[in-house]
Amino acid sequence: MADNVWFTEFQTDDVTLGLRVKAVLRQETTPFQELLVLDTDAYGRVLVLDGAIQTTDRDEFVYHEMMAHVPLSLHPHPRRVGIIGGGDGGVLREVLKHPEVEEAHLVEIDERVMAASRDFFPALSVAFDYARAHLHVTDGIRFIQEAAAKFDVIIVDSTDPVGPAEGLFGPAFYQSVFAALGEDGIVVAQSESPLLEPELVKKVQRGLRSAFPTVTLYLGAVATYPTGLWTFGLGSKKPLATPRQVSGLDTRYWTAEVQAAAFVLPPMVRELME
Ligand code: SAM
Repeated sequence: MADNVWFTEFQTDDVTLGLRVKAVLRQETTPFQELLVLDTDAYGRVLVLDGAIQTTDRDEFVYHEMMAHVPLSLHPHPRRVGIIGGGDGGVLREVLKHPEVEEAHLVEIDERVMAASRDFFPALSVAFDYARAHLHVTDGIRFIQEAAAKFDVIIVDSTDPVGPAEGLFGPAFYQSVFAALGEDGIVVAQSESPLLEPELVKKVQRGLRSAFPTVTLYLGAVATYPTGLWTFGLGSKKPLATPRQVSGLDTRYWTAEVQAAAFVLPPMVRELME
C-alpha cells in the first residue's frame, strides 16, 4: 500500500483522529455495520465499526481491564457474568482472569465482529474457546429481557448509541438489566467522553438511576477514544462496599490503587451525574 494513506475517524462533525494505514486487512458490510480491520504503525491492528474505532492492539488493555476488574472486584462473589456486545473478546478475556467466575456469557449481535477478532486479534479472542465462556450471537436487549438465571455482574460493552446499540442506552434496558441481576448485582456500561459527549454521559447516568439505587461513574484513559478521557457508568443494587482484594491478575493498567483513583472525579465530570 502507498505510504501516505490515512484513516480518518470523524469523532464529531468538527473533530477527527487520523492514523496512517499500513494495510487494510478486512473491509466488509455485515448485516449490522461496516467493518474494517486496519494495520497501522501507531496503534497496531485497529478494529473499526461504522467509522468508529472500537479497539486497537496498543491501547485495548486499558478499556478492557477497567470494564472487567472494577465491577468484579466490587461484587462479593461474581460467579455468573454477562457481557453485552464486546464481540472482540477483550472484556471476556479479562473477566475470565477471575477464577471465581464460573460462567461468562458473551452476547454479541454481529457474528462477523467475532470472526474478525478470531482472524486478526488473537490476543483479544483468546478466551472464546475457554470452557467457562458461553458465546451467544443474538440481540443483547432481548437476551437480557428473556434471561432466566440471574447474573452477578453485567458489563455493557457496546458501540455508540446508533443502530442496534441505541436501545442499550435507554432506561428500559437498564430496568431489564436490574431484573436480570441477583441481589448484589452490579452493571457497568461504557458511557463515552465527558468532554465531547456530555449528554450521553448524562443519559447513561439517568438510565441507570431509573433502575438502580446506587449509581456512579469512574474514569479511564483510552488513547484512541474521543479525547482519551473515558467514562464508565456503574449501577449497583446495594451500596458499594470496599472492593475485595483481588490478587494475581496480570494487568497493565488496572490495579486496586488505579481503581480507587478512577472514582475521584473532577467537578466537570461530577456535574454530569446530577
Ligand atoms: N469498546 C468498544 C467501544 O466502546 O467502542 C465497543 C466494542 S464491541 C466491538 C461493541 C459491540 O457491540 C459491536 O461488536 C456490536 O456489534 C455490538 N452490539 C451493538 N448493539 C448490540 C446489541 N443490541 N446486542 C448485542 N451486541 C451489540
